[in-house]
Amino acid sequence: MGYRIDNAQMNDILARLAEDYRIFAPAWDRQKKNVRFCHVTMVEQIVLDRQTDFSTKEIYYPISQVMMRFSTDHIEDEELTDDRGILIFARACDINALGRLDRIFYDNGNPDYYYARLREKVKLALIECTEGFENCFCVSLGTNKAENYAMAVRFEEGSVLVKADDEDLAVYFSGEEEPFEPEFVQENRKRLTVPDINKENLRTIGKSEYWQQFDERCIGCGGCNTVCPTCSCFDTTDILMGEDSLEGERRRIWSSCMIPTFTETAGGTRFRKSQGENMRFKVFHKFYDFKARFGEAHMCVGCGRCDMRCPKDISFFDTVNDLNKEIPEQNND
Ligand code: SF4
Ligand code: SF4
Repeated sequence: MGYRIDNAQMNDILARLAEDYRIFAPAWDRQKKNVRFCHVTMVEQIVLDRQTDFSTKEIYYPISQVMMRFSTDHIEDEELTDDRGILIFARACDINALGRLDRIFYDNGNPDYYYARLREKVKLALIECTEGFENCFCVSLGTNKAENYAMAVRFEEGSVLVKADDEDLAVYFSGEEEPFEPEFVQENRKRLTVPDINKENLRTIGKSEYWQQFDERCIGCGGCNTVCPTCSCFDTTDILMGEDSLEGERRRIWSSCMIPTFTETAGGTRFRKSQGENMRFKVFHKFYDFKARFGEAHMCVGCGRCDMRCPKDISFFDTVNDLNKEIPEQNND
């Protein structure tokens, strides 16, 4: 069962929810001049007619996060400043992407404390998505559908259909009952043939000249990683308060496998020396390593944001799709 709630009523509900939750949804960030997951207080702020430039990950895995503060004689964890939960209105692809990050941060040894303490606050409100956007290829990856959500919404002209299964959220909703089950996009404009990269052909594909095209084309800006909801690499950096200071803070800051220095170690050795090698790593990570490690699905959820972001018009979709042509050729060698 669901409810039909007019926008004015829904805004009242959002105001009540905001006492217990920080609420995020796709909205215009006027300062940064893009659509991202912003704090919202009203239905009218929510942007539905274009895809967000950034994903939900910056909410529970911030781009720059203080982990601890230190001085000569003590270390102190950075406390979270807001006790409220986090409610995120997001589409199925981003809900699935959160599941991918969960695998990475929870299931690689000990759960990651800094991720977990924000992640555990998150409740997801599924935004029904039946059309998709220009660059989406979620259907090819099965990420067009999601089940792991606390409530679902369909935004219509002047009103919202809501289904709130989560008992913590259900108490906020009442009114005119109307059956509502969210529907999911069935076909995208782009259809990906997922390349069959496996243990047997991995080495051969890795040695292909295919990757060399990116040596010149890719400028290693890392923008594709920044917008990706499933990229999780970070650096940790100690920042001292002054030149002679022994007081400071340890931060973790997003990193990127596409920046040229990503694999550089002390002494200057670089394990991946070209942008072609970096692209090969990224494709293998998204379409082989993750599934080999966790066994359920590929890491990429087909949101297409990396294609929107790339300043050199490199399409990750095309890169992965075209790789299919290389596989039989390589196998026939
Ligand atoms: S389409 Fe690009 S941005 Fe989206 S999940 Fe896949 S690799 Fe990441
Ligand atoms: S956004 Fe484009 S140019 Fe920048 S690192 Fe990614 S593929 Fe290379």
